[in-house]
Amino acid sequence: MTDLYAVIGNPIAQSKSPRIHAAFARQLRQDLRYEAILGPLGGFQGAVEGFCAQGGRGLNVTVPFKLDAFALATERTERAEQAGAVNTLKFEGAGVVGDNTDGAGLIADVRGRLDVMLQGTRILLMGAGGAARGVLLPLLREGPVSITIANRTVDRATALARRFHPFGPVEGGDYARLAGRRFDVVINATSASLYGEVPPVPSGIFAPGALAYDMAYGSGPTAFLGFARDQGAGRLADGLGMLVAQAAESFFLWRGVRPDIEPVIAMLRAG
Ligand code: NDP
Repeated sequence: MTDLYAVIGNPIAQSKSPRIHAAFARQLRQDLRYEAILGPLGGFQGAVEGFCAQGGRGLNVTVPFKLDAFALATERTERAEQAGAVNTLKFEGAGVVGDNTDGAGLIADVRGRLDVMLQGTRILLMGAGGAARGVLLPLLREGPVSITIANRTVDRATALARRFHPFGPVEGGDYARLAGRRFDVVINATSASLYGEVPPVPSGIFAPGALAYDMAYGSGPTAFLGFARDQGAGRLADGLGMLVAQAAESFFLWRGVRPDIEPVIAMLRAG
């Protein structure tokens, strides 16, 4: 029987998840259907119940429902617990497993696809919203020398650093404190690129050969990647690889098989 999956969000029309999961299913010959659901604001639980009543096996969850999904899960993975948000639900009998695959997606893209080792590196993580929080534990597990969180609203950066300090070397502060420092990996987890803006980082933050990674993606290089290129960053990457890799991690959770992300990234880049 064809198994049913979906992504739920509001808005949802822009989501690439149906194309990505359809490509995974073709690649791995999985008999499944994957839909997009426009979740009513304030009506997440009802929409999920309706989906389950149709025999739905799993959901991807996007803005603004990741906290609702966290609350709805009857069991959560450690990475979802620490992220404080759930982007993947798996329905198992009466139970609902909540996971967060964003961090694993970032690591799979950076270490697995771009072949950049994070162990022993100095990482700058810009932003202190949901995306930053979701990737902190998986980043710390890679064994960097330090993770520095910088955020426009400083309190959010320091609170995040305090929360994750038990897991490894992480500190938080404002952008001005970065002056004179160098980083091997600079990750933009702010939404500044969505507005064509660059976070207010001082110049000279890129160590020789540094990776500049923007979680945002679009048809061309983001504003941050343009800045990083001008500042001499060694490698540039946008977040399309992370998007496909986090989807692959959800697929693995549901189906127990792992898609090859490279051809799917190439398919999306081609338009
Ligand atoms: P949130 O709204 O939770 O957080 C936004 C963050 O961006 C905050 O830290 C905010 O700072 C900061 N910010 C916004 N505008 C600016 C600016 N002009 N200058 C500096 N900082 C700014 O968003 P998310 O964390 O959910 O998402 C962040 C980005 O990550 C988005 O671009 C999103 O598309 C991308 N993303 C990509 C994924 C992928 O798979 N590739 C997965 C998840 C997210 P402040 O606290 O001061 O407001």
